[in-house]
Amino acid sequence: MREYARLYIDGAWQVPSGQGMAEVIDPATEQAIGRVPLGAESDVERAVMAARRAFDGWSRTPSSVRAGYITALAAQLKSRAAEMASVITDELGMPVQWCQAVQVEGPIAGLEQYAELAGLMDEVREVGNSLVYREAVGVCAFINPWNYPLHQMIGKLAPALAAGCTVVVKPSQETPLHAFLLAEMIEAIGLPAGVFNLVSGPGAKVGEALARHPQVDMVSFTGSTGAGVRVAQAAAPTVKRVCLELGGKSPLLITADADLHAAVRHGVQDVMINSGQTCTALTRMLLPASRYAEALEIAEAETRALVMGDPRDPASFLGPMCSAGQRRTVLDYIRLGQEEGARLLCGGDTPAGFERGFYVAPTLFADVDNRMRIAQEEIFGPVLCLIPYADEAQALALANDSPFGLSSAVWAGSREHGLALARQIRAGQCFINGGGFNYQAPFGGYKQSGNGREWGEEGLAEFVEVKAVQC
Ligand code: NAD
Repeated sequence: MREYARLYIDGAWQVPSGQGMAEVIDPATEQAIGRVPLGAESDVERAVMAARRAFDGWSRTPSSVRAGYITALAAQLKSRAAEMASVITDELGMPVQWCQAVQVEGPIAGLEQYAELAGLMDEVREVGNSLVYREAVGVCAFINPWNYPLHQMIGKLAPALAAGCTVVVKPSQETPLHAFLLAEMIEAIGLPAGVFNLVSGPGAKVGEALARHPQVDMVSFTGSTGAGVRVAQAAAPTVKRVCLELGGKSPLLITADADLHAAVRHGVQDVMINSGQTCTALTRMLLPASRYAEALEIAEAETRALVMGDPRDPASFLGPMCSAGQRRTVLDYIRLGQEEGARLLCGGDTPAGFERGFYVAPTLFADVDNRMRIAQEEIFGPVLCLIPYADEAQALALANDSPFGLSSAVWAGSREHGLALARQIRAGQCFINGGGFNYQAPFGGYKQSGNGREWGEEGLAEFVEVKAVQC
């Protein structure tokens, strides 16, 4: 049991003024594994004002010194990587075979990258009679989801520290423990007081108070589109910068000349990893009608071969959903898909032997019409829609027929064929023939998937104001 009775504010573990504690539930056992404070608006006030006081000093600290703190944090995370991975497995339910690489080693690489990019803040551009300087945006609030908790946190924190911003962080209520562990590491590296502040608590209370606060200059939000809209509305009266990283319903377009087995196998695994709780999950597989029957057979065999089980068992490919509420949502969508006339190929419920824990079997729907709600709305569970198309023009139209535009993928007979299709899909990412995630490249969405970019130089730019000085 990990119990944190205090919040990390102004460089110290402070007694919260909020009432009570929230339990953290292990989704595999349904047992409480931790407790964290339910922060209140007065805690937000203290944290924001600490960040405000720390801002001038931190933003004027030489970029090389800020880079040193980021490198020290990466070293801390490396030295406690196994502990961090195990905390995330416990609170999220992602199996150990993925957790360390995906949830911890990636964020370490991200930190190291921003230690290198911090020097960009010193670059001055000359244009005509102007000098253009880069300066930190100011006090930033981070509101985070639960599905890749440390990855989301570092995707904001590392560039913010590199730019010279100070921050107040609100983790998701489902997975707050990693954030408290990170605060311990921040304390261990001696980051100046007030640069990093942590307030846990409900989104509607703590999150909205942060988004509204007049002393917060920027809010960076990752989560569902609905909550992102509310954050933007709360932030609007104070005209703060709002960076939104929201949901997705991403297509995988498989062409007729593709290696069908490799493509379908990749598509199935991409959705089922983290039990479908991935914002970029390729949940709509677009298949050439000429090879549709063959593709369904491959997809079903690959899905049935996946091992679902205890996330602490190294053999488990997928574990439970993160919460009882998420399981309910997913099962409701599966029922809806059947009512809408999609054909259930496998999965669809909680299988025998999984009565304890929030498990949903990996589920395939065939003969999905892209206009069905299961193809238009983000389910955020292990549910893959298999959609036939007649020709590539129709495939592209289906790929783009979505309110979202976060990610996409193409599997084609050649890289050139894949690239030609990638340029016609309205999404912030496109992965061709299994290309991997790149921490140096910008990440973010088109359309209702958001308006910001994380990672790479563009991720730093989110936290930068530019000042033109005419002389
Ligand atoms: P969520 O929107 O329910 O919650 C996200 C965060 O917002 C939580 O910390 C929550 O407490 C807070 N929150 C909720 N309502 C709020 C409000 N009114 N004001 C301020 N804060 C509020 O999302 P979730 O269920 O935690 O995460 C899953 C969602 O996140 C999915 O839609 C997924 O696609 C999305 N996501 C997007 C990305 C991306 O980079 N685009 C990455 C990961 C997850």
